[in-house]
Amino acid sequence: MTTAVLPLDLLDLDALLTDEEREIRAVVRRLVDDKVRPHVAGWYEHGHAPVRELARDFGAQGLLGMHLTGYGCAGTSAVAYGLACLELEAADSGVRSLVSVQGSLAMFAIWRYGSEEQKQRWLPGMAKGELIGCFGLTEPDHGSDPAGMATRARRDGSDWVLDGGKMWITNAPVADVAVIWARTDDGVRGFAVPTDTPGFTAREITGKLSLRASATGEIVLDGVRLPDEARLPGAEGLRAPLSCLTEARYGIVWGALGAARDCLHTALDYAVHRTQFGKPIAAFQLTQAKLADMALELQKGWLLALHLGRTADRGALRPEMVSAGKLNNVREAIAIARQCRTILGANGVSGEYPVLRHANNLESVLTYEGTSEIHQLVLGQRLTGIAAFG
Ligand SMILES: Cc1cc2nc3c(=O)[nH]c(=O)nc-3n(C[C@H](O)[C@H](O)[C@H](O)COP(=O)(O)OP(=O)(O)OC[C@H]3O[C@@H](n4cnc5c(N)ncnc54)[C@H](O)[C@@H]3O)c2cc1C
Repeated sequence: MTTAVLPLDLLDLDALLTDEEREIRAVVRRLVDDKVRPHVAGWYEHGHAPVRELARDFGAQGLLGMHLTGYGCAGTSAVAYGLACLELEAADSGVRSLVSVQGSLAMFAIWRYGSEEQKQRWLPGMAKGELIGCFGLTEPDHGSDPAGMATRARRDGSDWVLDGGKMWITNAPVADVAVIWARTDDGVRGFAVPTDTPGFTAREITGKLSLRASATGEIVLDGVRLPDEARLPGAEGLRAPLSCLTEARYGIVWGALGAARDCLHTALDYAVHRTQFGKPIAAFQLTQAKLADMALELQKGWLLALHLGRTADRGALRPEMVSAGKLNNVREAIAIARQCRTILGANGVSGEYPVLRHANNLESVLTYEGTSEIHQLVLGQRLTGIAAFG
């Protein structure tokens, strides 16, 4: 099974990419076709993906922390990183999540806020995929409002002692290092916590009906004692984890389009081959209206993503722009996935086709990295000057 090349690019938007960007995309597409697509339905069904193996494969191709510079990172443009996210998520949102959390959350936090020693210790191994990172912000009782976090870090002599818990943490069950955000007497601080530190445990969350090809965990911090060198010295206040989220959300703006594209490819192919009432279902006007509307939304979302990418590459990307992109592209992607499912009829609920898997995955993508409602509130605040969060 390989990525189908069907005429979804109605507007010839590919012409807006450079040769180098197309080449990077082709490399990622080949990697995904080789290492992910043949297996991903099975990983999803069994609720288990070979995260370590995948991380090594992705690391060998320079995909982990690819938009960061130095420390073994590839240093590509934001657009190239976005195109990679799209190709990864065309296979599965869980696989793209592995790369996003590693590169945009865990590695970015250390790269942006860590000491030189922390960067040397963690980043080269993480770029190669030999070390896996996770990012613990959400707690059982504090999701959309991380300012209320209950996890505490208190000073004990020159050490820090962390107590609390984090919930819904991607990669946590397999991570070597956890970036943990905790409240201190001076506000929120971040810590790069080796996961073999006594008192640190990560339990896999089982029974998810979404993102099943991704390892998600609950972290318990029970008197986790760390030297001050584990604190990310540049991270002060909630602004720090929020800036990491902006990085990761940018990847989602592109990634969600990949899931939608894969659904549309599948539905288009199905519609031209499936016959009812003596003709292909693609010959019915109602089916064509669905296909036309979906292709249009996909292309509009892609233009939005490219605009954000080019803006990021000029250093002018603002968080609310990323909110606009995440809100629109995930919302449209999930609508496309659900619409494509209708075109497949009963086969639409079968794991033999990727469509319902993508739709189910996108439920998580809609919720994590800021729910749609939170991004609406971000845009509402920008438009009105009034914060309506609380
Ligand atoms: C598979 C998966 C992986 C994840 N990975 C990570 C990870 O790696 N690291 C991490 O830190 N977190 C992770 N998360 C957690 C995710 O970021 C949170 O689930 C998300 O922020 C929402 O928090 P919540 O689930 O507590 O929902 P809540 O905050 O309780 O929200 C519930 C509902 O209320 C709405 N709501 C909340 N506040 C408002 C408001 N002011 N106005 C209007 N509506 C509001 C929300 O939009 C939502 O619809 C992951 C989640 C999932 C599902």
